[in-house]
Amino acid sequence: MSNYSNIDSKLIHGGIDGDENTGAVNIPIFQTSTYKQDGLGKDRGYEYSRTGNPTRAALESLISDLEGGVAGFAFASGMAATTAVLSLFKTGDKIIISSNVYGGTFRVLDQVFNNFGITYEIIETSDLDLLEKSIDENVKAIFIESPANPILTITDLKEVALIGKKHNILTIVDNTFMTPYLQRPISLGADIVVHSATKYLGGHSDLVAGLAVVNSDELAERLGFIQNATGGVLQPFDSFLLIRGIKTLGVRMDRHIENATFIAEHLKTNSAVKAIYYPGLPESQGYEINKKQASGPGGMLSFELGEKYNINKFFESLDFVTLAESLGGVESLICHPSSMTHACIPFEIRQKVGIVENLIRISVGIENKNDILADLEQAFLKSYEA
Ligand code: PLP
Repeated sequence: MSNYSNIDSKLIHGGIDGDENTGAVNIPIFQTSTYKQDGLGKDRGYEYSRTGNPTRAALESLISDLEGGVAGFAFASGMAATTAVLSLFKTGDKIIISSNVYGGTFRVLDQVFNNFGITYEIIETSDLDLLEKSIDENVKAIFIESPANPILTITDLKEVALIGKKHNILTIVDNTFMTPYLQRPISLGADIVVHSATKYLGGHSDLVAGLAVVNSDELAERLGFIQNATGGVLQPFDSFLLIRGIKTLGVRMDRHIENATFIAEHLKTNSAVKAIYYPGLPESQGYEINKKQASGPGGMLSFELGEKYNINKFFESLDFVTLAESLGGVESLICHPSSMTHACIPFEIRQKVGIVENLIRISVGIENKNDILADLEQAFLKSYEA
């Protein structure tokens, strides 16, 4: 039993804290594929590193602890985690996804799971009446992001989980944008949480990883089986790096929020900006709901560039704010969702869900906030075409 009750301490000491045998304060990197057995059927808890590895196990117990779940699972990428979770379903099952999910989540359902007879329907899950009306006997899960990628739509997770329970279907939340530091969906009633740990959890844009946490022994057994059977596991070195990243999540996230709030407040009144999406602005969609279910608005914001600005010139004029896929690192990253992160979603669907051609997404980093703003402002000036 630990002597701390706050998440910032849990980030550092949660799960398996250090190494019992040597007193090392960090978990060693067990760079091994297999383990000596003392006789037939006499292993020491580990047999083969696809099935289990002590460094990965430390990470898995840490994320389970942080999300308040029953068990955690680490995968080679966020998409490997999502794929393993979707492998819980079978032919004939239908999954509802929120209208703004990560493009890769849409793609794996549309072009991989569809081939196995698992279908999906895109629903604006922030509209709870619409969501409930869309549930038929084939629907077996609701897969949501809140805030959703890329226009930060907020869905009431507690209400969705209640709808899920009423209809005996699973609620799955991709918690990548918020992290357990700000939002813990299992405590709101969700059954499964997935993460692209490549993002805020890793925090330094130096690894690709995915995590999943479940809220029951039954799901733990089924997902553990899938993890071992399909084998998309995270390697020991990357597990170590991810544990290291998670230790500083609290201080990084506080600074991401401070900077994103500052940038959003300034962009809101900038004539180059046609519309802005940031859950920390009181006028934003779902502001009160986000405040109720999360302890902060996060570090992601999106905006639409005004018609008089040349979007290519804007991106090319930026100095250190970097045009790149991904998010959640210490550095500010900027992207064009319709041609990058969400390009695999057909044009008509993108238009319908607000991923328009002049939409720009920023992962606000932890550099000096005045420097970030100055970089954006000088790029606005250079891209203005009267
Ligand atoms: N979920 C969200 C919200 C994401 O933004 C991403 C990647 O951008 C993923 C899942 C997929 O994660 P990965 O790139 O680690 O496979």
